[in-house]
Amino acid sequence: MTPEPDPEEVGRLREAYGAVRRRIDAAAARTGRDPAEVTVVAVSKTVPPARLRSAVAAGITILGENRVQEAETKAPEVAGARWHLVGPLQSNKARRAIELFEVIESVDRLELAVRLDRLLADAGRTDRLAVHLQVNVDRDRSKAGFDPGAIAEALPALAALEHLELAGIMTIGRLVDDPEAARPTFRALRALSERLRGLDPALGRGLSMGMTDDFEVAVEEGATTVRIGRAIFGERPGEADAR
Ligand SMILES: *Cc1c(COP(=O)(O)O)cnc(C)c1O
Repeated sequence: MTPEPDPEEVGRLREAYGAVRRRIDAAAARTGRDPAEVTVVAVSKTVPPARLRSAVAAGITILGENRVQEAETKAPEVAGARWHLVGPLQSNKARRAIELFEVIESVDRLELAVRLDRLLADAGRTDRLAVHLQVNVDRDRSKAGFDPGAIAEALPALAALEHLELAGIMTIGRLVDDPEAARPTFRALRALSERLRGLDPALGRGLSMGMTDDFEVAVEEGATTVRIGRAIFGERPGEADAR
């Protein structure tokens, strides 16, 4: 039997999530956007299943993981959650990924998209798997993603993949001290989205951008998905010192 979630923990998570949601709503209001356009993915990497059951009880149902393996072990223990993959996907884990995730936000190369499409076809799936194309907007050598100058070239091949829904594009901003410093990256992602959608309407309007340190700026710049870990679940073990 799965133990009942601890009501105090549920309350704390509900409060943290509510605070995030209010900040998003305010950022949306500042720029005349409908806050309902913004989905929160609660990034739950390192957070144990018991706490995630409390999160679900608190109404936090869209969870983001950056490792297939970790999601695979936690998912069976967290009923009622919907999982997004936000981290790099190795080709040899693509088969497991299509079974686990409702959205893959981190499709960072054409070969991976082709592989996902083929696996979905082989599995006889008739729905389309929603994906975001990850773009390395800042051309940061340490980050994965399509080069912003080269993605247009790949777009026709991507759009032809019948089992994928190209929901939008995604980026991971640089680590910044001042959230304002992230604005140019977000603005560039939005401009790129507009340009690409002009070339191929198969690409959706989704913009997955913004994390704990900069999500309000991301919402002001048009984010439709924000991926938030620490502002909901607290600092991750071993990471606080690095900041
Ligand atoms: C960890 C992670 C996040 C969440 O980061 P926080 O700073 O904890 O909000 C968002 N996106 C990706 C890709 C991540 O790996």
